[in-house]
Amino acid sequence: MIVPGDATATCWSCGTMRAVHFCSACGKVQPPVPVDYFTFFALPRKLNLDAAVLEREFYELSRKLHPDLCARADKREQEWSLEQSSLLNDAYRTLKDPIKRTEYLLRLEGVELEEQSKTATEKARATGEIKKQVVPPDLLEEVFELNMQLEELRMQKKLGEDDPALVEEIGKHKLELEKKYEALLEELKTYWAEWDQLPDDAAEENRRKVRDKMVDLLNRRSYIRNLVRDVNEAVEN
Ligand SMILES: [Zn+2]
Repeated sequence: MIVPGDATATCWSCGTMRAVHFCSACGKVQPPVPVDYFTFFALPRKLNLDAAVLEREFYELSRKLHPDLCARADKREQEWSLEQSSLLNDAYRTLKDPIKRTEYLLRLEGVELEEQSKTATEKARATGEIKKQVVPPDLLEEVFELNMQLEELRMQKKLGEDDPALVEEIGKHKLELEKKYEALLEELKTYWAEWDQLPDDAAEENRRKVRDKMVDLLNRRSYIRNLVRDVNEAVEN
């Protein structure tokens, strides 16, 4: 990991200090250096960010880094433009999305998010093994009941029976789950605030506490998402 200070070197063209992407003195695009997305946008590693400012910065940088800009006579500079532009797009896509931004920051902080990743889920489904996912405590009762109903529905379908009342019951559960899913974003924002308030020299223990809350929330979120998908599959098949 490169610390932000290392990203600022001298411009290859005019020799003055430069920004991460292009020289502030002569405007020439600089070779990309491996920086994290927050550094790319010169943002602190905080989770509350002004979406309007980020968007403005994105369009501003897009324009300045555009590979087709006629000022780019130098072939190297054109290549760097291309690389920087694609880095810019990745950084923007990641940071503008609240969940992606949170996941990205957690990874930067060394958190392994693999267990709730899409590939892990798909692998588990493909091999037929049940993915070990802990049921969030506040969902225990609901999940238990819902799974029974889904089981019943599958049985009925096998027998060619039709039970609109059961489908309606399941639909109500699904609606509840979707509400909980939506509410998670508000809860997440409270953890963002906790994270952003941590001083730069905060003890690791305090940092971990907030990280754990965010990881737990993301796990609950992916649990609900998988469950809703199961419901959809059971009802539609
Ligand atoms: Zn320069």
